[in-house]
Amino acid sequence: MTKRCYYEVLEVTRTVEFEEIKRSYRKMAVKHHPDKNPGDATAVERFREIAEAYDVLSDSDKRSSYDRYGHAAFQGGASGGGGHDPFDLFKEMFGASGGGGGIFDHFFGGGNGAQDGRGSDLRYDLQITLEEAFTGCEKEVEIRKLDNCGACDGAGGAKGAKVTTCSLCRGHGQVVASRGFFQVAQPCPQCHGAGKTIDKPCRACGGEGRAEKTSRIKLNIPAGIDEGSRLRSSGSGEAGKRGGGSGDLYVVIHLKEHAIFSREAADLYCRVPIAFVTAALGGEVEVPTLSGPVMMKIPPGTQGGSDFRVKGRGMPRLQSHAKGDLHVKLEVEVPTKLNSSQKEALQTFAGLCGDENTPIHRSFTERLKGLFVD
Ligand SMILES: [Zn+2]
Ligand SMILES: [Zn+2]
Repeated sequence: MTKRCYYEVLEVTRTVEFEEIKRSYRKMAVKHHPDKNPGDATAVERFREIAEAYDVLSDSDKRSSYDRYGHAAFQGGASGGGGHDPFDLFKEMFGASGGGGGIFDHFFGGGNGAQDGRGSDLRYDLQITLEEAFTGCEKEVEIRKLDNCGACDGAGGAKGAKVTTCSLCRGHGQVVASRGFFQVAQPCPQCHGAGKTIDKPCRACGGEGRAEKTSRIKLNIPAGIDEGSRLRSSGSGEAGKRGGGSGDLYVVIHLKEHAIFSREAADLYCRVPIAFVTAALGGEVEVPTLSGPVMMKIPPGTQGGSDFRVKGRGMPRLQSHAKGDLHVKLEVEVPTKLNSSQKEALQTFAGLCGDENTPIHRSFTERLKGLFVD
């Protein structure tokens, strides 16, 4: 198979700057990504070809070899574009952490952040109540972070400044230095990693295009979220240098301890005290839930420590209409501070009780007897 010219593959001319090559790669890689062309067998081949062309043309050394010798420059073992997995390259360029459609969500929603100049991702720990996790909620958080400079709109130049692609790194923001056998990529000393130089830098930000600011960020917390869940707010991280695209904000959720309920996945647990008379006679007990109290029936002769389950009164399950259950442990309360007539009534009651009223006690006594017989 005859190899197509790399410039032709990326649809650029031979004299374009690095920025243009990168822009073209991003456009074409998205268009020909196999995920976007299901069932098209040539898409994978095309996707590889685009990655290979970019791999060579984005590297100033490889590019100049290619300009001189064409494809022959990389024959006989020398690596042209073959060394770089096209899918890895894609992920690097779009900063996606894998996961199917997410790559595209990130690209189409996340601005044009270049990998090299992109701002840092940030982490924010957010505490919410169990009630908020139950209903889902909107939260606004305040974060102090590097944002686009207001004076230059993130570009880094003063009014009327001329922006040019850095001549030393050709817009890469990095230069490759040789250390003996090794090649080490370093931030470009001329543009300090920005890939562009500006003749008159913005005075507010010193040409970096960003400044520390406090931003308010709105977050949508879905119903059913649990302790330790991580939410991503795309593009809400730190701004990149000179408009290099923002990182993402990762919000880690923590749940405040609740006075009544504890939680395990979608199930809730609580302890409810009942009067010993109710336990003996049976009846209805009011049980709290996160959507208001409900009445729960208990049979006569309910023992302390019994577990009951109220179906569907737990936490919502994420991305589903189903809910977990509420587990209720009953605590039978023995009355304290009895007055004389109450004491009398209980003594009368005790006189009326026989063995048949306390089967648990009876079987316990029998087991005790067995213990001391030789
Ligand atoms: Zn500025
Ligand atoms: Zn440079």
